[in-house]
Amino acid sequence: MSILFLTNDLCFDHYPGKQHPERPERLMAVQQGALLSDLGSSLVQTQAESVDRNEILQVHDGRFIAELEKVDAAGGGRIDLDTKMSEHSWRAAQISAGAGVQAIRELAGGSYEAAFCAVRPPGHHATTDQSMGFCFLNNVAIAAQHLIDAGEKVLIVDYDAHHGNGTQDIFYAEPDVFFVSFHQWPLYPGTGRTEETGSGQGQGTTMNLPFPTRTTGDHYRMAWEQIVQPKVAKFNPTWLIISAGFDSHRNDPVASLGLTSGDYSDLTAEIIKAVPSGRRLVFLEGGYDLEALRLSTAAVLRTLAGDPTHPEKSTQNGPGREAVESIAQFHTMNP
Ligand SMILES: [Zn+2]
Repeated sequence: MSILFLTNDLCFDHYPGKQHPERPERLMAVQQGALLSDLGSSLVQTQAESVDRNEILQVHDGRFIAELEKVDAAGGGRIDLDTKMSEHSWRAAQISAGAGVQAIRELAGGSYEAAFCAVRPPGHHATTDQSMGFCFLNNVAIAAQHLIDAGEKVLIVDYDAHHGNGTQDIFYAEPDVFFVSFHQWPLYPGTGRTEETGSGQGQGTTMNLPFPTRTTGDHYRMAWEQIVQPKVAKFNPTWLIISAGFDSHRNDPVASLGLTSGDYSDLTAEIIKAVPSGRRLVFLEGGYDLEALRLSTAAVLRTLAGDPTHPEKSTQNGPGREAVESIAQFHTMNP
């Protein structure tokens, strides 16, 4: 069995500006991470293709999409304080959104254990009608919507250092999507409190795990095992999508958590047990240290292939224990 690696060099062409952390070199580092994984012919690279407009409209507001198209037609422009469209950004955004749906179709053929979408711009901050936080379209949400429309139940685990507010918002009342976010707190965008657990029919299908700066991997693993895993088992997902932000790495210049590539390996190994092989999809989100991106991508790919490595040691005994205890207590009181 093999791992499918979807990427497209047209994703280099999105250029949000000089000194912007979400720079094209990030994708280069992730592609280098694929080589570093040393999976040989077990890693099958394919060209990510642009999304169908109808797939976008299952998640995003039509007027909002028309506005983005207008900015694109004008050659680019600023969308919000830190989200800027250049010439060709819109094409890159559509390829990033298309990779997931394409991966799902490829996985249905049964030849792959998992797929990794190495694309940019990222997506998890984009809501139904707003681009923000370096994100235009919500790539993960478009893939998840495609799955639930086909009758699947989707677990989304977001371990980017920032809260996946867009994904949470889109599926907040959706009973067939279980959204879990591990993130640094407090940090942009300011959402993702433990108390945010979903609404209406989706009550209980959102789970937030806010952690302090320098949190070590042992506490992420503890939280997964003690708090998240039992709820996930009850939800019984048929598909898994990971919002893989590598800015939780201790060397990241934008966030301040304490993980290493070894921790990404350990955590991913636990998370993928939630669904059978062949139903696992990983999406690049953030991550702004190039070496951390290389090592973490390699570590996650090896784990998906069932042969985990630890390019760096896993971490333990740092901050985070009290956060696990208080999140656990909240869920005991609010089952
Ligand atoms: Zn992030």
